Amino acid sequence: MNGYYGKILRVDLTTGTTEDMEIAPELYRKYLGGSGLAAKLFFDMGAWDTDPLGPDNPLMIMHGPLAGTTLPGCSRLEVCARSPLTGIWGESSMGGQVSPQFRATGYDGIIITGASEKPVYLYVTDEGVEIRDASHLWGKDAFETEELVTAETDKRARVMSIGQGGENMVKFAAIVNDKGSLAGRTGMGAVMGSKKLKAVAFRGKSKTPIADEEAYKAVRERCIFEIKTSITADGLHAFGSNVHMEMGMAISDVPVKNWREAQWEKGMDALSGVTVAEKIMTKTHACYGCPVACKRVVKIDAGPFAMEEGPGLEYEGAAGLGTLQRCDNLEAVSKANELTDRYGIDCISTGSTIAYATEAYERGLITKEDTGGLELGWNKPELLVKLVEMTAKREGFGDQLAEGSRALSKKYGGEEYAIHVKGLEAPMHDPRALWSMALTYGTGIRGACHVNDDNLMAELGNVSFKAVGVKGTKPQRREGKAAQTIAAQAWGQLAGSAVICLYAWWSMDGIEIFRDMVNAVTGAGYTKEELMDVGNRAWYTKRAIGNLCGARKADDMIPERILVPHLEGYTSNLAKVLFPMMSMTTRFKIRNQKIADSNKEMTRKFLLPHLFKVLTTVGKLLPWIGGTDLKKASIEELKSRFVDYDYMLEDYYRLRGFDERGIPRRDRLERLGLSDVADALEKL
Ligand code: SF4
Repeated sequence: MNGYYGKILRVDLTTGTTEDMEIAPELYRKYLGGSGLAAKLFFDMGAWDTDPLGPDNPLMIMHGPLAGTTLPGCSRLEVCARSPLTGIWGESSMGGQVSPQFRATGYDGIIITGASEKPVYLYVTDEGVEIRDASHLWGKDAFETEELVTAETDKRARVMSIGQGGENMVKFAAIVNDKGSLAGRTGMGAVMGSKKLKAVAFRGKSKTPIADEEAYKAVRERCIFEIKTSITADGLHAFGSNVHMEMGMAISDVPVKNWREAQWEKGMDALSGVTVAEKIMTKTHACYGCPVACKRVVKIDAGPFAMEEGPGLEYEGAAGLGTLQRCDNLEAVSKANELTDRYGIDCISTGSTIAYATEAYERGLITKEDTGGLELGWNKPELLVKLVEMTAKREGFGDQLAEGSRALSKKYGGEEYAIHVKGLEAPMHDPRALWSMALTYGTGIRGACHVNDDNLMAELGNVSFKAVGVKGTKPQRREGKAAQTIAAQAWGQLAGSAVICLYAWWSMDGIEIFRDMVNAVTGAGYTKEELMDVGNRAWYTKRAIGNLCGARKADDMIPERILVPHLEGYTSNLAKVLFPMMSMTTRFKIRNQKIADSNKEMTRKFLLPHLFKVLTTVGKLLPWIGGTDLKKASIEELKSRFVDYDYMLEDYYRLRGFDERGIPRRDRLERLGLSDVADALEKL
């Protein structure tokens, strides 16, 4: 079968048995693969009733039809299960080096159930699977584990493993490969730890079956051309995802001090991708075969935060462990970030939970007795690093932080400033700057997440849904946001099903290039409309799983703090300026390579390093959109800054066909061939 092997490996760690499971061709056609197919299989297993950390929760590791090819951004996989952090559908995407080797073993995925009594790891090859003893690896961090497992299997094997975070079942534990590429969100590492599964190693030789070699070569050339001429790709290559720090701070998209402040120039200067490149970066790095190469490698030679060459800050780490803590010590934030990767915990949830705890301490809800004598506070570099370590190891107060911000705020109070949706801590993009992020967080199938859909890039003017008949909307308007979000969510599901990196996709064209990639590999001849159905089918299946796990309309609400004006400082309106600027620059393609190269050189050397100043100067010249000193703002001005979430959510419910409980209606599901899902929901 083109694009697939047609089988999934099933492993039961309780009995130590394995078997191959055949997948019917029509399931691939309807779900593509990745997290979409995983959701369908999870639903068929009726697994929504399982204890997330119990043996019956299936841990599903899935790649998609594009894995193992040399198409850019396709060396990814998805890990899915019921989440121990949120209690609903959990999934997390992982780049790095594992996916091509996984693909070459001849399996389209693995479903692991049961739990071993002693630590084990799996060694999967195209000749079979071994369950090996991992007692000697228990207690080691993910970087050490990767080296040791590679040494005792095959130097060409690629390994995904958990560190102390997963072993200790930190609710937001991650799975790690390539010393810094993580499936970070929703606690998939804790599920792995609950099964006493330390690592999975892959070594295969099977070749990805491609339907149409000529079409494949042609679309690959187009992808490479798109990336070579893309300003987005060039910015990511030069400064990593942390290229966003300058632009984000200018438009008040970067959360500061637990989302209380909107602009902090000093913190931005200290932590931006430009500063990382100048001060501590040794080289760039890429997931297998990706020409964007957005990853950073850094080194800190000496001092309290010395670290050997290792993973550098991406934007979420720089903001979550930096600005959110109001910490402007680059070395400490880099060290804290390295520890989250090494121990295998999600930097977003870690940073958010620490920030919540710091504010609760400041307000007297958490005391020194609770913290074991630690004095929590803003901008405490040594304490930040210590808290990360304590969380991963569940030491002292870290044992409480390891439960996440929802659990902590239920215990101590201050739920209004624990910034999560459905238990998943919000990533570092502020709905007050980009209103669609409110819907993205509130209705995201795994909770507050910015990479399950394309809204972020649409709001920045970088992605358009015109090709699927949906008009884009400007960043701070409520009209049209629901339709935009639904289109964005379908594209996000396609990325998770195929499986492709959104950064790479954002650097290329829209849905057409994606369709051509999938059709070249699978030969399925999808139209855009059929692909939108594939995306929506995956989305509704996951939403239904969430409903079956107990989620209702009340769970679609988002914390008030990120809907109302900031509490302190200055806030800007510059998203309104950025949107047309980005729309023009990113969609305007320079076809001549030489001119494109010099344009990129200019952008990299002069524009990106000074983007904050450029944008804020525009703001000063146009004071009516420039921004507001919140202390001096009138009541009317403040009112205009409230994100109208109620309006957007109501519109969204109508377009999605939800009932008043937030459950999809039968007709909507049946149109996508999901009558079995409708039957299950009818019983609620
Ligand atoms: S864009 Fe970055 S994260 Fe995405 S595949 Fe390429 S190197 Fe990996």
